[in-house]
Amino acid sequence: MKITDIEAIALVWPPPEKHFWTALRPIGRVNELLVRVHTDDGIVGIGEAHGAGMGFPGIYRETNDGAIEAAGASKLVVEVLKPLLVGEDPLDNERLWEKMFRLNHQVGWTSAGWGRPQVLTGIAGVDIALWDIKGKAANLPVYKLLGGARNTVPCYVTGGYYQDGKTVSDLVHECETYADMGYRAIKLKIGHVSVEEDVERVRAVRDSLGPDMDLMLDVNEGYDVPTAIRAARLLEPYDIRWLEEPVHWYDRIEGLGKVADSTTIPIASGENAQHRWDARDLINRGGVKVMQFDCTRNSGITECLKIAGMCAMNNVRLAPHHDPQVHGHLVAGVEVGEIVETFPTADRDPIWEELFTVRPEIRNSEMTLLDRPGWGIELDEDALRARGVWA
Ligand SMILES: [Mg+2]
Repeated sequence: MKITDIEAIALVWPPPEKHFWTALRPIGRVNELLVRVHTDDGIVGIGEAHGAGMGFPGIYRETNDGAIEAAGASKLVVEVLKPLLVGEDPLDNERLWEKMFRLNHQVGWTSAGWGRPQVLTGIAGVDIALWDIKGKAANLPVYKLLGGARNTVPCYVTGGYYQDGKTVSDLVHECETYADMGYRAIKLKIGHVSVEEDVERVRAVRDSLGPDMDLMLDVNEGYDVPTAIRAARLLEPYDIRWLEEPVHWYDRIEGLGKVADSTTIPIASGENAQHRWDARDLINRGGVKVMQFDCTRNSGITECLKIAGMCAMNNVRLAPHHDPQVHGHLVAGVEVGEIVETFPTADRDPIWEELFTVRPEIRNSEMTLLDRPGWGIELDEDALRARGVWA
């Protein structure tokens, strides 16, 4: 089989109607790079990736008159990765990954005008499409190819964002809604208000939902090390399943290790790790017990399998960030797979709500993978045309 063409489509949704935010960051437009790899025997592989966004050159650019243009990783897939891969056998994902990754350390790598973040996002989109082709060629779901540890995976819901005028009782009501939807694990955002106010938010949710609901807390890099240690100790009585990215970006390895050493709450991180070496440092020196490597943001499935092996050797669990349509297979495929992140509404995950005509369902905090080849998804071509800009 040979690769004949690669499409890159930047999907961009309108900004959310109501402003909401994590510790330090407002939530902006949801966007996703859709990659389609075409082959000479008619199989088309679907891949997805999302760029850093937030004004960084992720996958799109907004022009001065408000139009959306493909940019960053979307352009890179067509202009740089496609010429590299056309004519290659799409089943050779390991070899092709190395060929793409080498772009990062060739002589004059910046002269083409691309940075490493775009390269790693582009690799993610293409690599994920190659795994779809592998599954379709073998007539097997990807989770079976990865190892088939299970076909049903636990899911949690992420919520508890900050909003103007949102009270603690509003937060409790929101979490009760998730419990009514059948969720048995909820992740709340903390770190935007004082530690004492956040402890009060968490206490109120725990009191309302009782001891059987799993609660995770995501700081999104909102604390310095002393504040993270103080917050962790104050939060310990509330039976927290994990504390996520508690430390500011500049001390996210050694500083994180100090926090991990000073609390009984397991530490989670990895959504911002770009490759296996970042993941290694988070495990070895950052004290991470829950690895959240996001292979739809960086480097793809091929790289994440190496990280899964590292997790297995270090008693670390894998709970990837975002994109349940891809990460569900990963968590189902490998033994270290722990749980998948999902969102309750189209506001936070319009991809899940709008982009597919066929995809698994999430019921009672569980996703059951479909017995269909590859990722098992079918794209809604109308949604693609409505939201997509071709690079
Ligand atoms: Mg997070």
